Amino acid sequence: MFRCNEKKARWYLDKKLAAVLPNEERAIKLNFEAKGDGHKQDDYMVEDRSNTCVSCGGNEYLTMHHVVPEMYRQWMPLVVKSKSSRDLLLLCKHCHDTYEQKAMILKKAGVKRFNIPLEGSGWCTFPQYKQARKAASALLRSSDKIPLDRQELLKNTVLDFWKDYDRKQYKGDQFHDILTECSELVDHFKGPNYIEHGQSAIKQLTSKCILNDKGQETWPDLEGFIKEWRQHFLDNLQPKHLSDLWSVDADIYTR
Ligand SMILES: [Zn+2]
Repeated sequence: MFRCNEKKARWYLDKKLAAVLPNEERAIKLNFEAKGDGHKQDDYMVEDRSNTCVSCGGNEYLTMHHVVPEMYRQWMPLVVKSKSSRDLLLLCKHCHDTYEQKAMILKKAGVKRFNIPLEGSGWCTFPQYKQARKAASALLRSSDKIPLDRQELLKNTVLDFWKDYDRKQYKGDQFHDILTECSELVDHFKGPNYIEHGQSAIKQLTSKCILNDKGQETWPDLEGFIKEWRQHFLDNLQPKHLSDLWSVDADIYTR
């Protein structure tokens, strides 16, 4: 027994690989033996689920929530990330937003744990660009609130930069245009060694690989990390409408 959406069910029917079960609503029987045992009868994966928020039971503004944030999930080995439906839960917007604030605390804890900022590492910056951009932005935003001598200093910072940047003498160009252009300068970019936070974290979590008794790869640190996010979700949201069959310790692999 397995779950699938209507589109997939129709595909099986069109290919004559399945037949509609006479006494069952929305159920088909495959005309062939599926590879593997599928999921056990009492498994969460085959259980019927309603279209309601797993936390409050509401049915408005529903959104699919990844228990393990996408910033990590996208870098996981395929045998882990393709089994997403267990860690993909329905939440209403309110519960989702409430949880996301808590999730940020765990993400921030990852900065120290994986030794990489959330914005990634390997950024290159142009300090002169940054200085000119900040000065121009300050003048555009609130020059009336800045003391005159400070304004003068900021103007000189922008013009000194501009002379070098524009490679020609400043001949009374429209100062406002210069300010606008400087305020939009991109002062940092991803260098050749740039790496995303999630990418680095997953690399570290999969560095220790152990073969199981079937000779398949397993990553104990990654298992722990995924289970930590599942537990964090339960502890912080305390979902009242989540199936009893959903468990923190459930398998993370698709095989
Ligand atoms: Zn809700």
